[in-house]
Formats: sequence, C-alpha cells, structure tokens
Amino acid sequence: PTGRDLFDGRENSKGWDLRHRPTMEAIDAARAPFAKHQWQGGPLTTATGESTAAETRVAPSDPSDTVGTVAWATPELSRAAAAAARPWSAPASERARVLNAAADLYEQHYGELFALLHREAGKTLLDAVAELREAVDFLRYYAGQANEDPARGTFACISPWNFPLAIFTGQIAAALAAGNAVLAKPAEQTPLIGYRAAQLLIEAGVPAEALHLLPGAGDVGAALTSCPDVAGVAFTGSTETAQIIHKSMAENLAPGAPLIAETGGLNAMIVDSTALPEQAVQAIIESAFQSSGQRCSALRCLYVQEDIMTGFLEMLTGAMDALVLGDPWQPATDAGPVIDAEAAGIITDHIEAARHDKRLLHSLPVPSDGHFVPPALIRVDSIADMQREIFGPVLHIASFKGRDLDKVIDAINATGYGLTFGLQTRIDDRVQHVTDRIHAGNIYVNRNQIGAIVGSQPFGGEGLSGTGPKAGGPHYLPRFRAHPAPEVTP
Ligand code: GLU
Repeated sequence: PTGRDLFDGRENSKGWDLRHRPTMEAIDAARAPFAKHQWQGGPLTTATGESTAAETRVAPSDPSDTVGTVAWATPELSRAAAAAARPWSAPASERARVLNAAADLYEQHYGELFALLHREAGKTLLDAVAELREAVDFLRYYAGQANEDPARGTFACISPWNFPLAIFTGQIAAALAAGNAVLAKPAEQTPLIGYRAAQLLIEAGVPAEALHLLPGAGDVGAALTSCPDVAGVAFTGSTETAQIIHKSMAENLAPGAPLIAETGGLNAMIVDSTALPEQAVQAIIESAFQSSGQRCSALRCLYVQEDIMTGFLEMLTGAMDALVLGDPWQPATDAGPVIDAEAAGIITDHIEAARHDKRLLHSLPVPSDGHFVPPALIRVDSIADMQREIFGPVLHIASFKGRDLDKVIDAINATGYGLTFGLQTRIDDRVQHVTDRIHAGNIYVNRNQIGAIVGSQPFGGEGLSGTGPKAGGPHYLPRFRAHPAPEVTP
C-alpha cells in the first residue's frame, strides 16, 4: 500500500478517513451557498492603522467569477501589529484544546473552505479534499506537541498561494502551539482563504493579540522580516525570496532569530529498465500534473533508461492524453488552471521556447477561458539544461544509459536543490545505491513523489530547497521554542 492508503485507514484526521468521508452530494450541498458568495477580507489585528482600498480577487478558472475583495495591510500597520502582538501565555493544555477546536471548526466549515479553495486558488475537488485534510492534520499534530517550554516571542508566518489553507495553517499552528504570537501574511493571490481560516482560529479561541492577519504584497512581508519585534520567520516560497528574507533578518532582527524556510526544487525521478511501466507512468502523471504541477514537490525532470524509452514514451503520452482538464470543480477533472495570468505567461513562454527549439514532445489542448496552460512534455539532454523551476504542468524528460546511472545522480545533486526525488526500479540493491547518494529531503520509491502526510512523512528539503526542519515532523515545533528540546530520532 502507498502512504496514502495507510493514512486513509487511520483516524488521526477525524472526519476524513474512509468511514466518515462525505459523499459528493453532501460536499455539493455544503458548498452551494458559497459558490457565488462575495467575500470581504482585510487585516485582522488589534493594532490600529490604515489599510489600503479594497482590491478585487477573481477565480483563476473563470475570471468573470468575482470571489470578493480584500484590503491590504500597509507596512506601518504591520509594524503596529508587531508591537501589539502578545505571545499566547495560556497553559499548553489550553493551547492544545483551542487548536483542536479550530480543527473541528475547519471540518464543520468544509463547504465554504472548499468554495474558497476552488474559486480563489483554482483547486480541483481532489486537491481541496487533500488540502483541508492536511490543514486539519497540522492543527491536531502540533496541538499534540504543545508543552510548557518557553516560546520565542512573535513569529512572522509568510505562506504561499499553492497551499493557501494547509501551509498557511501549518506554520501558524506550530508557532501558536509553542506559545508564540503570530503575524500571518497570506499570499497576495489567496488572501480570502487566509482571512476565513484566521477567523476560524480566533473563533476557536486563539486570543486576538496572539494572531494578527496582515494580507498584502511584498512590502508587508518586507516590513515583517525587518521588524526588530519579530523573533523568527517561517516562510514557504521561492528560493530567491528566502535569500532576501535571510539577509533582511540578519540586518534587523536579534542574532539567532531562526528562519524556517521551505523553498523551491528541481525534482527528478529515475526510471530504470526493470521498473513496472504502468506503475511508473501513473506515478509520473500524478507527480508532474496533479495540482497543475503547482507543488514544490512536483516532478520536473524525468530520467528514463534508454533501452525502454520508445515504448515508455508511447505509454506516457497516451496517459497524458487521458488527462481531463478544465473546470476544477467537476469530479472528473484531473488538472485545473494555474494561479494567475502572470504564471500562465511564464509557463507558456517556456513551452513556446521548447516548441521553437523542436524539444516539445507532447502537449494538450486546454480551455481558452481562464488561466489554463497545456500540460507539456519537453525533451532535455540533462537536468543541467534546466536553469530554474517552472512552477506548472511541464515535465522534462531525458534518457540515460544504464552504465551512466552515477552520472545522472551527480547531475541531479549538482543542481544544488534537494526537495523530492523519485525512483522506479525492481532491483533492491539499486534502491540502496541510489537513495544513499541522492541529496533530497523526501525520497519516494515505486510511488508518486507528492502529497507528503503530516506525522508520517515529514516534508522539507536541503540545499537550495530549504533550511529544515521538516514540516509535519518531530523536529519542526522545537524550532519555534526558545530552548529547542533535544532532537528526537524517529
Ligand atoms: N507538502 C506538499 C507535497 O508533499 C508540497 C508542499 C509545497 O508545494 O510547498 O506535495
């Protein structure tokens, strides 16, 4: 069984295991009142100060669908919130109780959270279910680790649009479980999901002085990461932004303030000639194209052993042709839109450059309304040809000779990234050989390489892919404490 099968049988995500999963009818009924609802968001903070005029948010799959409006926090308001923030001094048992209550509220409000994930972030039904489950798991997992060790103070939590509920919630839950105050900045593409989640956290009992929501653009993030009232930063996003944050923290924050960053990747998979082709193709399709490739963990560069390349390519392109693209809320849809016009432009330019160079092996027609880009397969000679992460449904493919396996491993390691890696083989010794040598935070063998599970598959990278510790694992929460507890070996 895969990790996900095992997980589905467990009860750590109350309400979402096989026995209690709601039916499609129940999901539709819960979501219906919010399918056309107009949301209004903005800063949620006890500090007083100006916010800017409201901006409109539209659905990536249908820009004629106005999701709602949001007012941005300003850098001044962000600094005022940092001054007003107060660590959560309640006993650990109370913090745990409240975070578990928030998990219950997330589950009770699944209809509106699904509507927001679909409309504001373009999530498919499958992705929305997985994301809510992960958010709930983060709340319960970190609640279970609350103890009386001292907190650091105030954390800035800066989260991405690709997991606007799960990563947003995971960072905040860890910081709060440890007793810190949080200044949360949701991604500028998905502020309304962050707003609704922050409301639910406060409704569950998180004190308003301990949780301040500051939606905004880069200037809000810059104000937070340069504010001396901030004791540490949790960040998920691009490697370049993490480097800017690191510099700003070194210049402005107290020495030793931690940066807990999860950043980009150039994730590879190796398929050797002994691999089960059906299994490998399924794993590749999921890893490269689910969530329209908008996961840090997504497969970007596939290495297939030369001997099997011709037949394998036929099977892979056939499987691509079977992908259902379009309205993310249709249960049959495999891949929806990308997040916005800017992302669509960058990805499309990359595909067109490959077409021009005669390296585009395959691509699919997509709807013309909304920010859809064609899932594409592009030939490369080596992962070294890929200069940067293309954050979308674009898979690069290279072939290798069996005797060059170690050269392939070296090329993958030489990118400097190290987030996920996949291997498909039926040779046990090869599993050992390759996994001993690859530098990656999460290594998956004979399965897909996305969808790490809170508590059983801690997620995070090394090198250019992040600072560690891994989210959803035993080492994460101690970094939010003033005196990290001794590391636990799982
Ligand atoms: N944890 C997610 C996964 O395993 C990826 C997180 C991200 O994209 O930042 O697929």
